[in-house]
Amino acid sequence: MKIPFNDLRAQYRMIKPEVDAAIAEVIESCAFIGGPHLARFEKNFAEFCGTGEAVGVASGTAALQLAFAALDIGPGDEVITSPYTFIATTEAISQSGATIRFVDCREEDGCLDPEQLEAAITPRTRAIVPVHLYGQPVDMAPILEIAQRHDVLVIEDSAQAVAAEYRGRRAGSLARIACFSFYPGKNLGAYGDGGAITTDDEELAARVRLLRDHGRTTKYEHQVEGFNARLDALQAAILDVKLRHLEDWTEARRRFAARYDELLLESDVRPLSPRNDDVRHVYHLYVVRVADRANLLPLLAERGVGVGVHYPIALHLQPAYARLGLAAGAFPAAETLAREVISLPIYAEMDEKAPEYIASVLKELTGARA
Ligand SMILES: *Cc1c(COP(=O)(O)O)cnc(C)c1O
Repeated sequence: MKIPFNDLRAQYRMIKPEVDAAIAEVIESCAFIGGPHLARFEKNFAEFCGTGEAVGVASGTAALQLAFAALDIGPGDEVITSPYTFIATTEAISQSGATIRFVDCREEDGCLDPEQLEAAITPRTRAIVPVHLYGQPVDMAPILEIAQRHDVLVIEDSAQAVAAEYRGRRAGSLARIACFSFYPGKNLGAYGDGGAITTDDEELAARVRLLRDHGRTTKYEHQVEGFNARLDALQAAILDVKLRHLEDWTEARRRFAARYDELLLESDVRPLSPRNDDVRHVYHLYVVRVADRANLLPLLAERGVGVGVHYPIALHLQPAYARLGLAAGAFPAAETLAREVISLPIYAEMDEKAPEYIASVLKELTGARA
């Protein structure tokens, strides 16, 4: 059997008539920037997330950059996040002029550890950025409580967690503002780059709208300097089509995850995300921990199993952050996960028999070593 890590072409085949019609409609209208397709998607996406506002932007990275800019976070401020995330989270912090403060993740789910959070707060802390890693919402209640007590902002990095829920509320509606990515491989993927912010704060949404489009109030009038960070109409139209399928796709991911959980129960391969009644995990990635990953990866490739590693290097140990002077051992949970994790294939269009095949391959390969 051959199971690719992802299969965007299979998904396109399922929805081709709808997507092709949406694309043709935008091209026919020639309203490529702004316009009705963007407005419609923003309305539907806000409704989907359970927020008052959604603002389409150029990417998940742009969403983070715009959120920091709209909240006036910058030089002199400290922003707390986990060292176990994609670099976009911390790029946006640094590029705003603020300083990154890492708090380790929890080994059991890879998300920011609320128990270590308060010790990292200083008089300069302006914001905390919890990352809903792999599609699993961070334990938000203690984070929001600490943030409120210290008068600190909370910005959700929801790039991996569209449709996820925490205590019955959708990711994107859990804090002051949230940032989504529509990178093609994300659970709701554009056919290029895209992103959004969601919020209940109308003024804040208006500020992001201003900043994404050169600080423009009218065609020729610029209230402030902004960015060129808009979501284009083609992407918005495609995303609007895909949004209608997202619940079904999410349920399919969850069914595959449950199947993996069951099949791997009696093996040396440990799924990272234990089931938790508080959350609806949307399995952007299905991540397991293994011993001896370096030997396992080429053997999985030989058996036709496409896998990923998210992430092999914790951010504080990346060359890009050598300037922070953080040595190995600084964040032990992030470092342990970086050594042990493998992401298995998971997507709605995956072969129904894939979990059985992949679990049997994993059991054989890890069992042989024991
Ligand atoms: C994908 C991702 C981003 C960045 O999104 P882009 O659309 O690729 O710019 C930010 N944070 C996390 C956690 C991500 O996974």
